[in-house]
Amino acid sequence: MALIVQKYGGTSVADLERIRNVAQRVIKTKERGDDVVVVVSAMAGETDRLLNLATEAVPGPDERELDVILATGEQVSSALLTIVLNSLGYKAKSYLGHQIKISTDSVHGRARITGVDADKIFSDIREGRIVVVAGFQGEDEEGNITTLGRGGSDTTAVAIAAALKANLCEIYTDIDGVYTTNPNICDRARKLKRISYDEMLEMASLGAKVLQIRSVEFAKKYGVTIHIRSSFNESKGTIVCEEDTEMERALVSGVTYDTDQTRIEITKVPDLPGTAAKFFDAISAADIVVDMIIQTSSLEEGYANMAFTISKVDFPKALKVAQSLAKEFGAKEVIAEEEVAKVSMVGVGMRSHSGVASKMFGALAKEGINIKMISTSEIKISCIIDAKYTELAVRSLHDAFELGKES
Ligand code: ASP
Ligand code: MG
Repeated sequence: MALIVQKYGGTSVADLERIRNVAQRVIKTKERGDDVVVVVSAMAGETDRLLNLATEAVPGPDERELDVILATGEQVSSALLTIVLNSLGYKAKSYLGHQIKISTDSVHGRARITGVDADKIFSDIREGRIVVVAGFQGEDEEGNITTLGRGGSDTTAVAIAAALKANLCEIYTDIDGVYTTNPNICDRARKLKRISYDEMLEMASLGAKVLQIRSVEFAKKYGVTIHIRSSFNESKGTIVCEEDTEMERALVSGVTYDTDQTRIEITKVPDLPGTAAKFFDAISAADIVVDMIIQTSSLEEGYANMAFTISKVDFPKALKVAQSLAKEFGAKEVIAEEEVAKVSMVGVGMRSHSGVASKMFGALAKEGINIKMISTSEIKISCIIDAKYTELAVRSLHDAFELGKES
């Protein structure tokens, strides 16, 4: 007998028919002899609807009150699933975040979970109940309702699985796993059987929107095994777990891309101590999150070029800061590029194999794609390219690394 946490996303509980389908899955698990704790998202579109409603009432609504509104989405879906389960003859009980003491910090809109009261859930399980938890919400020390950020129900599920020491955390969504790349742009994309926490973290932060990043961080910290799968079919999905030797053997696991990128370069900045500090102080004071940074200096001439990337929303602000500091520094010019993209290769195999970078650059060169910036980490190599070549780059990298083949 196992203890399983199952999380159903918004599309899986989008209407009553789908909620009935979820109930059948939960029942099947229960009938198999396992204990089940279910975490649900709000019905598809509901969180957006609530967000719009609040901002229509007042632009920039009070954050505390906004969380009270947003948390209602999951309140509805959790109780709906519970009454359906009860009507089918199964003992079930729904709980909101604060009722099972999902404690968080007080950062409204993106609160972090600091604790979960496992005893309450266990006492229901002992009495044979199916516990249904409203995802995405918690309570801070003062008893205020908090929400965990978009996609936060994933984190609720993993945090509960960690607190209960569950055998498995199943995340049901509308795709059936993690792919080597986006199947919509590369028909040779292949579903991965397993992926390590670190690779999943890289993929999530590089734009693959399968899991909330925090849920993966949580899973890694507490060793929670996640199974990402579809609620619309029976096929096995992708297991997210500790790295193993088989994963290391593969050179790379996937290609990801992010088109929410822009690039700004300041040329011929006097190469003196403190210029970079001054520049990035101004950038962070404007609340801009910088992704890649490259500085090259020419010793001979005493100048440096400084380039960095930021997301599209921050572009106008960043450009203003760059222009005003360029003037102050007496730099030559500011080059702004709004249409760039980042393509990345991810794989724990990079830790022990060499040659990934050269193969990647070679594949891009073969297509005549120019690389504007390069950055690497232990298990990732990213290149900034012209946005119009994104799909071509992804497909040729996918082919060059033979990711469509079962390794
Ligand atoms: N309902 C929330 C959202 O739409 C949380 C979630 O679905 O995980 O972001
Ligand atoms: Mg989600």
